[in-house]
Amino acid sequence: MIFPETSAESAAGAPICSAKGCRADAVWVLAWNNPKLHTPDRRKTWLACEEHREHLSQFLGVRGFLKDVVALADWESENS
Ligand SMILES: [Zn+2]
Repeated sequence: MIFPETSAESAAGAPICSAKGCRADAVWVLAWNNPKLHTPDRRKTWLACEEHREHLSQFLGVRGFLKDVVALADWESENS
């Protein structure tokens, strides 16, 4: 399993899926937190296309990092 190299924070322009090698438009936002690295209220975000949402969710979920999966449109309206 390979950790994605990019994250929502570093993405510029049109939001692109965070899965390694994927250039598809992001549709989902995965909000996550690594308790060993981040304070509990910190949220890291990955973006996912329809195809990779399950894959990335499981990657974070098995580690106990995944906090929320939100449609990108909803995320932007809540965080703008
Ligand atoms: Zn993808």
